[in-house]
Amino acid sequence: MARHTPNGKYWRKELETQPREKLEEYQLAALREELAFAYENSPHYHRSFDAAGVKPSDLKTLKDLAKFPFIDKKTQRDTQGVGSFLGELAAVPEEEVVFVSTSSGSTGVPTMSPFTQQDFDEWQDVESRWFWQAGMRPNDRYVHALNFSLYVGGPDVIGAQQLGALCIWGGTLPSERLIFILKAYQPTAIWTSPSYAWALGETCRKSGVDPKTDLAIKRIFVAGEMGGSIAATRDAIADLWGAEVFDFYGLSDIFGACAAHCEYHDGLHIAEDHIYVETIDLVTGELLPPGERGELVFTTLRKKARPIIRFRTGDIGRFVPDKCACGRTHGRIYVDGRKDDMFIVSAVNVYPSDIEYTVRELTEVTGEYVVRVYEENYTCKFEVTVENATAGKTSDADVAKRVTDSLKARCGVKPAKVIVLPDGSLERSTHKAKRIIDERVVTKVAPKDDYSI
Ligand SMILES: [Zn+2]
Repeated sequence: MARHTPNGKYWRKELETQPREKLEEYQLAALREELAFAYENSPHYHRSFDAAGVKPSDLKTLKDLAKFPFIDKKTQRDTQGVGSFLGELAAVPEEEVVFVSTSSGSTGVPTMSPFTQQDFDEWQDVESRWFWQAGMRPNDRYVHALNFSLYVGGPDVIGAQQLGALCIWGGTLPSERLIFILKAYQPTAIWTSPSYAWALGETCRKSGVDPKTDLAIKRIFVAGEMGGSIAATRDAIADLWGAEVFDFYGLSDIFGACAAHCEYHDGLHIAEDHIYVETIDLVTGELLPPGERGELVFTTLRKKARPIIRFRTGDIGRFVPDKCACGRTHGRIYVDGRKDDMFIVSAVNVYPSDIEYTVRELTEVTGEYVVRVYEENYTCKFEVTVENATAGKTSDADVAKRVTDSLKARCGVKPAKVIVLPDGSLERSTHKAKRIIDERVVTKVAPKDDYSI
C-alpha cells in the first residue's frame, strides 16, 4: 500500500478540520448506512430494532439515534457464539473477517472483537492520525510496549509504522530488557500505561540511568488508566522522563485507540468520522446535552464485521464538540472513570479520578495509592492507602490528616481511613495498575470488565 504522506501538522487536514456542519452531514449519511447494514445483516440488531418498533429509515436527524436500543457488554456476551462462531451481533460471514481481538475475561466471559480487512485498515489509519497529532514523524524511533497477546492495543503499532516511524515491537518485555532497548537504540517515543511509564522511569533511575539525560524519549503515549488525563500525573511522568505525555483512549469493541490528546492536552479528540458519541444520564438513560457529564455511548459509523450501535461504554465523562485551539473540529471527550469504579458515599458520587488527582497533587506522598471500597452495615465506605514521601520529616499521622482534608475538599466526602506506609511499600505496577479494590456486594451497580485499554 502506498504510504500517505501529509504535509504539515494534520494527518488528513481536510478531514480533521472540516466545518462542524459538514462533519455532521457526513455522520448522518454514514449512520443511515450503518443502521441499514446492521439491520439487514446482524440477527441481533434485526430483532432488537423490531422489538423497539424502529427502522433504519426512522433516522432523519442525528438525534433520532436516541430512538434505537442500547447494547452493552452483556449483549455481547449473550450473543457471542450464538448461531455462528462470530455470533449474532456480527454482520458479515466469517470469511470476511481477518482479525479478532479478545478481552482478558478476568472478570467474565472474554469478548471477541472482529474486524474485516477494511475495518482493520481504517483503524490503523486512525492510529496514524493519533501518532501524527501527537507529533510523531517518520524520523522517530518508536517502542510499542503494549501487550500483543490477543489485546486490541497490540496492532496499533502498525499505525506508527504506516506513518513511517521506525517501530520496535516491544510488547511486554521485562523492564531490564526494555531499559536495555531504550539505552541501546535510543528510541524517541514509547507507548505504555501511565503507571508503568512511572515505574519504568523510577527503575531506570535506580539502575543509574537518568531517563532525562541518558535516554532519548521525547514522547510518551499512555492509555488504559485515568492517569494520562490527570495533569498532575502527566506532569510527574513528563518531569521524570523529560518528555511530553499524551493520553490515548481505546475500546476493544471499536479500535485500539478511538481518541487521543493533541498538543493542547485539553480533552481527547475522538475520530468522529468513525464514531458517533452520545452522553446519557446514568440512571434514566436519557440523552444529555453536549458538555454534560454522563455515561458515554458510542456508535460506529463504518464498522462492518460487527457494527456497534449505541454501546454503553460504562465510562463516565463529557463530550465537547467545540473546535479545538489546534484547529481540529472533531470533538473531544473527557473521561472521569468507569461507572463500575464510581461509588456513592453519603449520597456523594466519588470518582477514582478525583482520588488520583488529590494523591498526585500532594508532595507529602509518593503518588502511589490503593483504594479499598467496602461495605459496613450496608453502607459504602472507602479507605485509601498512600506512602509517606517525606522520609520522616512529616509524621504518618500528619500525612494522613493532609490526605483526608484534601480528599474531603476534592470529593466532598472523607475516607473512613487513610493508611500511611513507608515509601516503596506499594507494588509498582507493570502495565495496568490495580488501584481499586472493590469489595462491594450490596451497593454495587454492575459487574466490572476490562474493555477499556
Ligand atoms: Zn486539539
